[in-house]
This record gives sequence, structure tokens and C-alpha cells, in this order.
Amino acid sequence: TDLAHIRNFCIIAHIDHGKSTLADRLLEYTGTISKRDMQAQSLDQMELEREKGITIKSQAVRMVYTALDGEVYELNLIDTPGHVDFTYEVSRSLAACEGALLVVDSTQGVEAQTLANLYLAVEADLSIIPVINKIDLPSAEPERVKQEVEDIIGLSKDECILASAKEGIGTQDILEAIVKQVPPPSGKTDSPLRALVFDSHYDAYKGVIAYVRVVDGELNEGERLSMIAAGSSADILEVGYFHPRLVSIKKLTTGEVGYIATGFKNVKDCQVGDTVTVPSALETIEPLAGYQPAKSMVFAGLYPVDSNDYPELREALDRLKLNDAALFYEPETSNALGFGFRCGFLGMLHMEIIQERLEREYNLDILATAPSVEYHVTKTGGEVIEVNNPSDMPNFGEIELIEEPYMDISIFTPSRYIGTIMDLVTSKRGLYKDLKYIEAERVLMSYEIPLAELIIDFYDQLKSRTQGYASLDYNFGSYRSSDLVKMDILVNTVPVDALSLILHRERAYYQGRAFVEKLRTLIPRQLFEVPIQAAIGSRVIARESVKAMRKDVLAKCYGGDISRKRKLLEKQKEGKKRMKMVGSVEIPQEAFMAVLSLG
Ligand code: GDP
Ligand code: MG
Repeated sequence: TDLAHIRNFCIIAHIDHGKSTLADRLLEYTGTISKRDMQAQSLDQMELEREKGITIKSQAVRMVYTALDGEVYELNLIDTPGHVDFTYEVSRSLAACEGALLVVDSTQGVEAQTLANLYLAVEADLSIIPVINKIDLPSAEPERVKQEVEDIIGLSKDECILASAKEGIGTQDILEAIVKQVPPPSGKTDSPLRALVFDSHYDAYKGVIAYVRVVDGELNEGERLSMIAAGSSADILEVGYFHPRLVSIKKLTTGEVGYIATGFKNVKDCQVGDTVTVPSALETIEPLAGYQPAKSMVFAGLYPVDSNDYPELREALDRLKLNDAALFYEPETSNALGFGFRCGFLGMLHMEIIQERLEREYNLDILATAPSVEYHVTKTGGEVIEVNNPSDMPNFGEIELIEEPYMDISIFTPSRYIGTIMDLVTSKRGLYKDLKYIEAERVLMSYEIPLAELIIDFYDQLKSRTQGYASLDYNFGSYRSSDLVKMDILVNTVPVDALSLILHRERAYYQGRAFVEKLRTLIPRQLFEVPIQAAIGSRVIARESVKAMRKDVLAKCYGGDISRKRKLLEKQKEGKKRMKMVGSVEIPQEAFMAVLSLG
């Protein structure tokens, strides 16, 4: 297709504002998918995505649209992940577009991720079309939300398109606006190939499939390709586009969006953000801006509940990694849990997804330790080490300085919650940056807050304190020094390395007590009394004990109600699934996660 008739765009929105539903309407209106074949939200393919209602992997679909001016356009819709854990992937998808539909729910208004995504779109120089969605709902306030778009985002309210993605209202207006307002791609048709990889996934039959935007030149089936950042090369086995199924064609030309089947066996050879070129141009060509290797922010130990499953766990992680260059893991041994893996994730959602996939797709029972961040520790000798497992923290005497990652966070909230949010953020060691009124009764609050505090229960507390009205966005800020200590936990006098925590010194005493109290309720009674202690260095700061089991607990069932006995045994069996014997005591999964409810 000639450049003048191509439009590449994406849809950005705060979660649940209707991005996927709108995408479905566009696909339907352009006949890309018939109404009959329409499965709600066809762009969200992974089972997990459907269930969680979020978009994890971006997708790109080509539509053919005959505009009111009679011309036929190729519209490429690039779907972007909707969660902050995947900001880098969002930014790469945006870099493949010239325009963005900014969807705002007319019953809600502008939220934290509306703005975060908008900033990314502005950075990528996209032309932005505001869409006020869900106007079919009785609680819709399109006028108020238009005004917000004008005040906060700085787009004229006359540019806003009123829509209901659910009912199909405004769909044609949106398509017309894309054709008229989004500029066609600019690129050099006669230069050597440069294409941006904005997503990739591993396919068992075709190898790694890369989703690309051709910036200059063209991509031909059968030619050879080179990846600039990865330094890898492969044959182009197939090229094509999504309709939304894969449709193979001979070539992709300048400005087009589509896929390449590469034959690579691992997505790390062909990562998001890398530039595709041809081997002859490799030495001279300028890579496209902005390749960043994925950076793990949250770490946890993953252990098989049954240690015989260790090889299966390794194999499952190997497989997941083929498809997820952001997943990091290395073998780890714990005195409490045995052989397992230290894993690194982009954030909490990414961690949750990996754990769920290991359990569902690979049928493994996993025991996970509490999530941790990565500390930069300067030892007294001057050496700097990275510590992402609390039990690896050196002894006090050897530490000069500990630094921890801080995040820049922004919170959108009705102003009546300012007080309670300030309390929350202060209790989480947040540093105040800014407070801006964006309307008479809505504010934008900015803080820096330790990531270690953010991953522990912050979001849930924010939601519950504000009845769900506040929205949150965050980005990595910087490393800052903090007065931190390591707290060890001893169960039945045996130190359990997987329960060690890094805490702020000022609150270590209080949190140590709360933690030990919590553990007491989680560790099941044994035939003997089990002491639980928290210690900093050699000093015990808290102690509780799990009383011995009363001998008659099971005896009561004998001869009695048989179904009750069966229930009890079944319950025990279920409980067994997620237990680890440490010394002579069984510790359940919940104990390793107890820190998450410390508050
Ligand atoms: P996303 O998270 O931005 O992709 O949002 P979804 O497209 O998944 O939509 C979130 C929820 O809002 C779903 O339950 C949709 O059915 C609903 N929804 C989306 N658009 C509309 C609309 O225009 N009107 C109404 N009433 N509901 C909508
Ligand atoms: Mg969605």
C-alpha cells in the first residue's frame, strides 16, 4: 500500500475504560471480523488476559476501511498492554504508530493511567484523538469529562468524539477521525530495511514471531535478517499481517505493520525494541531509538512443593522464558525450602502471571517466597553488591550503606481523600513531591516511595481507603540510601532463611512483633510447642509460640460422624499441597506471604 493510504494507530486508556471493547467495534465495523465470529474482546487472546480483563501482550490487526471520501485505507490497530508493569512494551507499541485514540470513560473521567499513557503518546509524537466512551450509561457525564480533557490534557473539548463502544455509537466518527487526523507514515521506501520489533512471541511451529513496524525499506519473504541489538540473524521464513489471524504475504512495505516468522528459537534473539535490518546494512545503519533490555524490579524464590518436581519446574521456566524475555531466573538453594529458583519480574502483576501459568499450564505446585526488591549494598571495603534475596544480606558489621529503589508515584483522587492518602503514604515512608488541583474536587498527588513498600499491600490500601476512587501510576525513580536492617525468623529455634525480611530500622521492632504474631496463627499446631522468634543480628526482638496440639482432636472423630472425619482428612490433604517441612515443623505457603499483610 502507498504511504498516503496507511494509518497506524493505537488505543490508550485507563484500565476498564473500554479499550478492548472499542477495538472489537472497529474490527466489526470494518468487516475484519464478522459479528457472528465476534468473541467478546478478540484481541485479548491469552486465557489469563480474558479472565483478568487485561491486555498483557500487544497485538496488531490490519483493517481495510473505505472512508467517506471514497478512498480505501489500510488501518493498522496496535493494541497495547494496559498495566504499568508493561510500560516499556507500551512505549514500543506507541513508537510503531502515528496516532492514538485516547479513551476516557464518561462515568469516571481522566485517571492515573490515562495521563501516564498520554505522556508516553506525547513523547512518541502521536496525534491524539480523544474518545469519550460509555455515553450509553445513565451515569455518564460527557460534558464534565470533555471539560476535564480540555483542562487536564489540553485538547479542545470540541475534538472529543462521543462514543459507546458497547452499543457501537460513534464508531464511524472515530474511523473518519483516524483517516483525517492521523498523519500517514513517513519513511524512506528506497533505503535499506529498518523495522521496529514491538512485540514477539514463540510459536512451536514457526519459531519466534516478531511483530514489526517497517520504518524504511521493505521486508521480503525468503531474505535474511539481522537484529541490531541482539546481534543475531535468521531467515525470514514468512511475512504477513493479522486479520486478526495470520495472513501470509510476500512482503511488508515502508510504513506497514505486520509479522515475521524468524525461525529463532528464543525471544531473546528478537526482543521488543530491537531493530530488524538486512545483513548488508548491519554495519552502517542507525538503530531505531530506544532499545532497553527488560529490567527485573521484583524478585521471589519459587520452589516446587514436591522437591521431585525440580526438573519440571526448570523446564517450565525455560519454556516460559522462550516467550518472555523479561522473565529472569537462576537456581537458588534455601536451607528451608531446598532447591528452587530466584526469579525476577517486571512487577507484581508479572509475578502473579508467571506463578499462575506455572500452576495452570505446567500443573506444578509452587511455593513462593515473599517478593523482594533489589538492594544496592556498599560493603565496608567499598565493594558494591546487588542483593535481591533478604537472606543474602551481609552482616551489619560488613555494611557501609544500603540503597533501595524508590518509585515516582502519582495518585489521582477526589480531594476528600487527601488526608487519608497522606497518612497512608507517610506510613509507607513516602516523600512528598507535589499536590495539584486539576478540578475543584480532584487532585493529582505526587510522591516518591520505596518500591519495597509499594509492593506490600499499598494498592489495596489505597483502594480501600478511597472506596476505589483513587487511581495509581508509578515509574522507577532512583536508588536512595535507607536505614534498613535484616530480620531473621527462627521456627523451633531453626533459622528459616526464606522468611528473612529487610525492614526499616525504625519500624523493625513493631513489624517484627506483628509478623511473629501472624506466623503464630498460620503455622499449624504440632505435637509439641513451637517457638517462633524474630531476631535482628543476635538480638531477639519478638517471640510467640504455637501451642502443642491437643491429643484428642482426631480422637473425637473416631466412631463418630464419618463424613466429618473425611472432611477433616481432605482438608489436611489440601493443606499438605502447599506445606514445607522445615526441621520438624510444617510451614504453609501463607507464612511466606504473611509479610504482604503487615501493613
Ligand atoms: P479495557 O480494560 O480498557 O480494555 O476495557 P474493556 O473493553 O475490557 O471494558 C471494561 C468494561 O466496560 C467491560 O465490562 C465492558 O463491557 C464495559 N464497556 C466498555 N465500553 C462500554 C460502553 O461503551 N458502554 C458500557 N455500558 N460498557 C462498556
Ligand atoms: Mg482490555
